[in-house]
Amino acid sequence: MTLTRRDAIGLLGMGVGLGSFWRASLSGEPRRMVESLALQARPTFDRGAVIRTLLKDVDPATVDGPVLFHEHLSTRYPLTKALAEEQGRPVPASFSDDVDLMVEEAKLAAKDGVACFVDGGHPDMDRDLAALIRIANESGVHIVGSGGYYMQRNYPKDIATKMADQIADHLVHEATAQRLGAFGEIGQQSGVLTDDEKKVFTAVGKAQARTGLPLFTHNPYTGTRVVNPPIPMDAALKQLDVLEAAGADLRHVAIGHVCCLDDVKAEIPKQLAKRGVFVGFDRVLIPIVPDAQKVTTILAFLDAGYADQLLLSSDFYNGRALKKNGGPGLAQTVTVFGPMLIKAGVSEATLRHILVDNPRRFLAVVPKV
Ligand SMILES: [Zn+2]
Repeated sequence: MTLTRRDAIGLLGMGVGLGSFWRASLSGEPRRMVESLALQARPTFDRGAVIRTLLKDVDPATVDGPVLFHEHLSTRYPLTKALAEEQGRPVPASFSDDVDLMVEEAKLAAKDGVACFVDGGHPDMDRDLAALIRIANESGVHIVGSGGYYMQRNYPKDIATKMADQIADHLVHEATAQRLGAFGEIGQQSGVLTDDEKKVFTAVGKAQARTGLPLFTHNPYTGTRVVNPPIPMDAALKQLDVLEAAGADLRHVAIGHVCCLDDVKAEIPKQLAKRGVFVGFDRVLIPIVPDAQKVTTILAFLDAGYADQLLLSSDFYNGRALKKNGGPGLAQTVTVFGPMLIKAGVSEATLRHILVDNPRRFLAVVPKV
C-alpha cells in the first residue's frame, strides 16, 4: 500500500484504523531519527481503565482519532462574570455563549477527525456543564469535563480559609457527582505560586491520588516577550514538585503550556519528561512564541526520545478561530499544527502516536470513585 504524504494526512484526519495507518507510514520516504524509536504499536491500558466522559465511561481502545486534551468549548476568558461584577465592568460576551454554534463547530471538528475533547474549564472560568453535555449529546464527540480552580484571581473567597484536605474533599465529591473525567486547567497567576495557589495544587494532587483522574496544569510563561519581573523558567518544575509531594500519580499528570517557554533546546520539557509526566504543548497556534519555534522545540524533545510523553492541544479561547468566522475551528491542532510537524520531518506514525495514543494513555484511568 503506497500512499502519498497528502493521503496520509487525510487518513489521519478521518481517524482511520490503526492498522492501515501504520502500513501507510511504514512505506515511502525516509523518516527522521525519531522513527527509530520503539514507539508502541498499540498503547496498553491498565485493566478496567476508562476515559470518563460526561456522558459515559469509554473504553480507550475504541477511541480511534485525535484527542485534544486542553480546549475550551464553554468558557468566559479572561474576565468571568463574577470578576466583571466585582469590578463594576460589563459582563463580557464569549464565543461559547451560543451553544447551538458550539454544537455545529464540534460536529465540524468531528469531520476533521477529532474523537474527543477535554474541556479545561470549571466554575471559576464560567464553564457551563449543561452546555458541554448538550454539545456532546448533539455532536457525537466525546467530551471530558474537568474540575478544579484556575488561578488566584479567580478563586472563590473561601479558598483562603480552607485547608488543602477540605479543598480536596470538595474536588473529589464534585468530580464524582458530576462525572468529571479530569482536573484542569490548574494554573497560577504569576511566576511564583501564591500561598493559596500552592494549597490548591496540593489539594488537586491529593484529589488526583484519591480518584485516579488525570490532571493538567497551566504553567506561567514569558514566551519571547520581555516581562518584568521575569517568570522563572523552573516554574513548571515547581508545579510538579507540589503535585508530586501531594502524592499524585505522575503517569496521569500533564504540565501544560510548556510550548510558551522560550526554550528551543527543550531543556524544561526534557526535565519534566524525565520525571515521568506528560508535557503539554497546548497553546499551539497562539503566537506567544511563534509556531515555527514550537516546532523546533518539539523536534528537540522528540530527538531526545520523549515521543511517548508529548501532548498537543490549542487551548481554544478565541472566537475568531471558529469555522463560522473563517478560522480553522476546534480541530486546528490536527488540521493546521499537525501538518507543520509533518513538514518539519515528523512522520505520520509519530504524529498519530502523539495525537491519538498519548492522550488516551494520559486520560485512561481505573477510577477509584
Ligand atoms: Zn485553557
